[in-house]
Amino acid sequence: MLQAGHITIYFLNAGFWWDDGGAQFGIVPRELWEKEKPANARHRIKLSLTCPLFVTEQGVILVDTGIGNRLSERERAMYTPEVGAGLAGGLRRLGFTPADVTHVILSHLHFDHVGGVIDKSPSGEVQPVFANARVYIQRAEWELALAPPDERLAAAYRHAAECLRPLDKVVLLDGDTHITPQVRTVVSGGHTTPHQCVIVEAGGTGLIHLADIVPTTAHLRLAWNAAYDTDPLTTIAAKKRFFAEARAKNLWVSFSHDDVVAAGRLAPEDGRAARLSETVRIAAVD
Ligand SMILES: [Zn+2]
Repeated sequence: MLQAGHITIYFLNAGFWWDDGGAQFGIVPRELWEKEKPANARHRIKLSLTCPLFVTEQGVILVDTGIGNRLSERERAMYTPEVGAGLAGGLRRLGFTPADVTHVILSHLHFDHVGGVIDKSPSGEVQPVFANARVYIQRAEWELALAPPDERLAAAYRHAAECLRPLDKVVLLDGDTHITPQVRTVVSGGHTTPHQCVIVEAGGTGLIHLADIVPTTAHLRLAWNAAYDTDPLTTIAAKKRFFAEARAKNLWVSFSHDDVVAAGRLAPEDGRAARLSETVRIAAVD
């Protein structure tokens, strides 16, 4: 938990999952990334589903929603999600229910960020989890997800239609947007072209949720980027920009998938790879 002025920042963990280490680290040789994130016998590394929650005077704001409960058996075998009570369990521990969430901001629409917006019953019925929340999505991301222009993107967004169709309070954003006076989205590009990070600033501090621009602490290195990124050079430029902003404004940074660290404070710039001087650890999953 962090405090920024009147805003309390929590880091919910919507569960753990396992993904191919090579996919997460792109051109980085396994010999190097494995020292940071050891792979299991199936070449997969353990990842979290970190979803920041801001309790503000304007409402309860959730960033991203994890995988949810809608994966097929084949996908479950692939990603072996350990979701437990998921976001609902994390909210309950803080005294909230999903109905208390007023805003959901989605960094982008890959399955591990959008999947938790809906609940799928065993009989296949689908309904929104956050019944009272407006869901904030970049318009360009929405359009890409629902009509992917090429085969590579079609695979990345194959879940989006099922997740998005039941939502009845979607707000489509055209670029950087203030959601409340203290909470804003900033389009980073890189991971997906319309990928957005979320910045909260209050009381002389705050947080930049880097989402999949820096999915784990190992990706703090500028050249370590996921093979999923549509434009790794834009990811690198976004890291430089956000790291500079975080240091200049005394903001914490948080990661979408690190299995140990939810958020951290960047050490002062010293010409070496960015690293953390203080951390908030990942919450357990019920
Ligand atoms: Zn992700």
